[in-house]
Amino acid sequence: MNEECVFCRIVAGELHSDMVYQDKDFVAFRDISPQAPKHVLVVPRAHIKSLADLTEAQEGLAGRLLFLAKKLAEKEGISANGYRVVINCGSDGGQVVPHLHLHLLGGRKLSGRLG
Ligand code: AMP
Ligand code: ZN
Repeated sequence: MNEECVFCRIVAGELHSDMVYQDKDFVAFRDISPQAPKHVLVVPRAHIKSLADLTEAQEGLAGRLLFLAKKLAEKEGISANGYRVVINCGSDGGQVVPHLHLHLLGGRKLSGRLG
């Protein structure tokens, strides 16, 4: 755990969040500043700084992260109409919180282009 990391503090239960899912490797909670009616962050418990810091040994974790997004989309009721998953990576990628996380967005027709 990184004491200065907001998501590590949520994982540790030190900071409150609107939690929607937890297991031994992941937590998922609602984004504090939602960009869509449904905006969930899926976060590995381990402090991995970004997608760029993922190691080959963590390949399975990456797969489970994506599959969990699919399952949570079903749970949130946005699977049938569609949704978007986003992982911002690093400075040019617009990553603000340096702890790997996946955005799950849905509940409205999403506009916007990639980049
Ligand atoms: P990113 O730009 O991909 O690093 O996105 C970070 C996201 O974390 C933003 O959408 C923030 O609104 C969200 N966020 C920051 N702090 C919190 C928090 N304490 N609880 C929930 N979401 C947060
Ligand atoms: Zn962290």
